[in-house]
Amino acid sequence: MPSAYDLHSHSDRSDGTVSPTAVVERAAENGVAVLALTDHDVTDGIAEAQTAADRVGIDLVPGVEISATWDGRTVHIVGLNVDIAHAGLQAGLAALRAERDKRAREIGVRLARAGIAGAYDGARQYAHGPILSRTHFARFLVDTGRAGDIGRAFKRYLGKGRPGYAPTQWTPMASAVDWIRAAGGRAVLAHPARYPLSAGQMRSLLAEFREAGGEGVEVVSGSHGPGDTDRFARLAREFELLASCGSDYHGPEIAWRDLGRLAPMPAECTPVWHDWSPAQANRRDMIAASKG
Ligand code: AMP
Ligand code: MN
Ligand code: MN
Ligand code: MN
Repeated sequence: MPSAYDLHSHSDRSDGTVSPTAVVERAAENGVAVLALTDHDVTDGIAEAQTAADRVGIDLVPGVEISATWDGRTVHIVGLNVDIAHAGLQAGLAALRAERDKRAREIGVRLARAGIAGAYDGARQYAHGPILSRTHFARFLVDTGRAGDIGRAFKRYLGKGRPGYAPTQWTPMASAVDWIRAAGGRAVLAHPARYPLSAGQMRSLLAEFREAGGEGVEVVSGSHGPGDTDRFARLAREFELLASCGSDYHGPEIAWRDLGRLAPMPAECTPVWHDWSPAQANRRDMIAASKG
């Protein structure tokens, strides 16, 4: 059963491999009725996605996935239903992209020291939008024979502590939440099971996120196994956070992480969309159909 809601996806405006139009078309093919496009630190794909969504008849939630720092670690904060014209949000994202570019140059320098020349320009060839991600470096490393696949490129070169790793200070988590709220959106902690935190640290993160104005957490995620879903369903209830679900789609190459192919939302959760008004009759029909 496809999920009618998929609230986390990437296009080639960040580190996905296909256009915003292609993301929307595939979501519709897979039975998604409400799709959020949440590119990393950029909203450039939303206008194109909106046009495609109007054409294929699904609801597009304007979103973004913000790179943030909490307790010296990187966490990702998804903003849903943000006003992409909001000046404060866009100023924040622009600052993050400048930080990203500084980091990308540093990754290039460090890879050169490890014997891999031209990585910054090489990675640029894979970027179709304004941000350079480690994913673009990974594709360059794979295609130049330095790693067998993307996962190995991270393991060997780009992951924390590896030769091409450049530490970065993103925006503090609380300011990422502030930008989202100022732009009228709802802040959701992305793929919590991916953070290497102890149980106690995870509780601190959730408590501080909520304190900062965060409203939701991804309970169902393309990055989560069944145990993770159960665990974060319980934590969402305990911390009175709404539950979100999203594939974290990056393109058709990663076949097991497809749009709308998600585990069901646990019944005890309050979905992040519980108070959204269905804007289109079409969307109501599709959601009803998917409940079968
Ligand atoms: P960045 O935001 O530039 O540091 O890059 C982070 C992105 O790299 C994430 O959004 C993922 O898409 C991707 N990524 C991170 N770790 C891995 C990994 N181990 N294997 C494959 N992709 C990864
Ligand atoms: Mn990514
Ligand atoms: Mn992420
Ligand atoms: Mn993502």
